[in-house]
Amino acid sequence: MKEILDAPFMQEMIRTASLMYDHGWDERNGGNISLMLNESEIREYLDPERVLRSIPTGFTAPELNGKCFLVTGTGKYFKNVQYAPEANLGIVRLARQGQQAELLWGFTGGGQFTSEFPAHMMSHIARLKADPLNRVVMHCHPANLLAMTYVHPLDEREFTRTLWQMCTECVVVFPDGVNVLPWMLCGTNEIGEATAEKMKTARIVVWSQHGIYGAGKDLDETFGLIETVEKAAEIYLKIAHLPLVNTITDDELHQLEKRFNVKAREGYLN
Ligand SMILES: [Zn+2]
Repeated sequence: MKEILDAPFMQEMIRTASLMYDHGWDERNGGNISLMLNESEIREYLDPERVLRSIPTGFTAPELNGKCFLVTGTGKYFKNVQYAPEANLGIVRLARQGQQAELLWGFTGGGQFTSEFPAHMMSHIARLKADPLNRVVMHCHPANLLAMTYVHPLDEREFTRTLWQMCTECVVVFPDGVNVLPWMLCGTNEIGEATAEKMKTARIVVWSQHGIYGAGKDLDETFGLIETVEKAAEIYLKIAHLPLVNTITDDELHQLEKRFNVKAREGYLN
């Protein structure tokens, strides 16, 4: 068996969690990440027949039965992931139609997956239907985006258009726009279902007064997506109180669509 801490997926996960912490997106135990792994990918590093513990998930997800995830732990701090990955991360395989998570590695000391596991798994299901290559769901608390949900209308078209107008490359990076949920109680199946519903049409779901959910085919892409949205929100907060003299026009956004061969969300441009 190879050393699992040297596995590319593990290194990338540790690097990403540390970077997210360094960006100030994951204070205390805030934020969580889940990365779908192929069983063939982990077989070099662990015996998939050796189940350490079975943990009830509290939901059913037949679509993900047998799928493995590297996921951050509940109550764990992103700042500590790099120093003790085996205590702060775990690899679980969903069994019994998703009602059980079989722990294959990690969560030493009796830990378990993030309390937002339902939102993650339901989001994976929704994104896989939209894009079979989707592997990552990421949640964090970027300050500028969070602040924006206090002062900007939460209408999804308006919210998206504002973000697109803040940096030239936004429409290229997230042409599907951002979907927005009102404030909801976190850690519940209800917010999980609502997030998954929003994930059907966009890779970014804003949780008002809380944070953001992003999805993508790998950790880099998903991190970059959140980074881009957060940068746009930062620009917005720098200018929102000033008289607007210039902006990126709809005609210019159409030019970007053409140049970069992307299609902005239907009906979002004039
Ligand atoms: Zn959160």
